[in-house]
Amino acid sequence: MDVITIERKVLQKNDEIASKNRELFIKKNLFTINLVSSPGSGKTSLVERTIEKIKDKVNIAVIEGDVQTDIDAKRVSEYNVPVVQIITNGACHLEANLVKDALVNLEGKLDNAGLLIIENVGNLVCPAGYDLGEDLKVVVISVTEGDDKPLKYPKMFMNSEVLVINKIDLLPYVNCSIKDLRANALKINPKLKIFETSCTSSKGIDKWCSYLMSGIKK
Ligand code: MG
Ligand code: ZN
Repeated sequence: MDVITIERKVLQKNDEIASKNRELFIKKNLFTINLVSSPGSGKTSLVERTIEKIKDKVNIAVIEGDVQTDIDAKRVSEYNVPVVQIITNGACHLEANLVKDALVNLEGKLDNAGLLIIENVGNLVCPAGYDLGEDLKVVVISVTEGDDKPLKYPKMFMNSEVLVINKIDLLPYVNCSIKDLRANALKINPKLKIFETSCTSSKGIDKWCSYLMSGIKK
């Protein structure tokens, strides 16, 4: 009983801070996405391909969330966009207050940015419950993970608006049916918008980026 009460309080506090983040995003005209997935689905590669594709059309800022190391932030900074690394020191998800602190580090760089990409810690469980203030939660799944993931981790698919099926170039080598994966995801959340991408061949990146561009506030 006590544990449940504490967890509720934590989530309530998180939601309050997330609302403040959301107010700031609206004030700064920022379209914000929260990328969630299990480790190794290719979130950082998707961030890289996205930046390459649209950085001439829109200013992009990135917040990288990881349990340890700034490897991902270093990768992203190669593309000359403002990036802040959050190291959670073991915590398995980002919380709104961590994003709030990261936003302080991006102060001044957000004023003419149109798109803020938050890459969450690789974890298909708890990031589903933590609002960060984003416009869209985007769940990324790689075909190497199998087509039953949406059924096994329904909350993440239920709470996301978009699904990116990544690493489709590996389809011939893995036991995964895109048709079943899509059907399973839509069974959990019929409203999911679905994209299929490969970050090595860049297949599907155009469509994904046009979709993002349509969400950018003018
Ligand atoms: Mg990453
Ligand atoms: Zn967690």
